[in-house]
Amino acid sequence: MSKCNIKACGNESNGDLRYWCLTHKDIASKDGKELQECLCKYKDVYEEPRIINPKEVKSIKIIYENVLENLRPVIMINEKEEKKALKIEKSVIDFKDFGGLFISKLNNIDLIPSYCTYCNMPHTDDGLFAYTPHAKHLCQYCGYFYRVDEPNIGNELALYFNIPKVEMKDNIIELKNIFKIEYDLFNGLVLVNGQMGDKIKIDNKVLFLRDYLNDVFKDEY
Ligand SMILES: [Zn+2]
Ligand SMILES: [Zn+2]
Ligand SMILES: [Zn+2]
Repeated sequence: MSKCNIKACGNESNGDLRYWCLTHKDIASKDGKELQECLCKYKDVYEEPRIINPKEVKSIKIIYENVLENLRPVIMINEKEEKKALKIEKSVIDFKDFGGLFISKLNNIDLIPSYCTYCNMPHTDDGLFAYTPHAKHLCQYCGYFYRVDEPNIGNELALYFNIPKVEMKDNIIELKNIFKIEYDLFNGLVLVNGQMGDKIKIDNKVLFLRDYLNDVFKDEY
């Protein structure tokens, strides 16, 4: 397992000290105390990240085998499963960042990657922030907050790839025990259990797919 590299990075809004793990791009403190290990769920993908040349990437698919059970995606690059984080130029893109991209595109967000004013790295928004424009961004690389003039949302994948809008179809998909999602980044197709549709029926309620997933993914950052 790759080791945490934890640094102090200023204060929380309540004055508590904050610590950040530079290896895994995640918080490493709780109630002002430094943790032994950061809270990253995807430490395994950071071991030897895959160096990728965007020009050699012909397809990217993000697959959630069953959203009802877990949100760890299967990432397919050129039809092969990729189990590591991607290193593209200076970016390191981990599995939650793919989720951020999916949610942003589902919400038809114009992705405008900003750059951290402390470490100059490009910015990616995940979870709630992937669909909520904001002017105060938390840099995943250094753990500091920086501000931009206009509220926006970013994702580094949009720096390296041309990602079209998500295609939606007016259709209700009834779900029982399986809720599989396959998102093809390069053609914008989202399949739910193999079908296209903008609504799901779950426990006899019809909901917009986007609203349901915004809620499911809100803490995935
Ligand atoms: Zn760590
Ligand atoms: Zn930074
Ligand atoms: Zn942000």
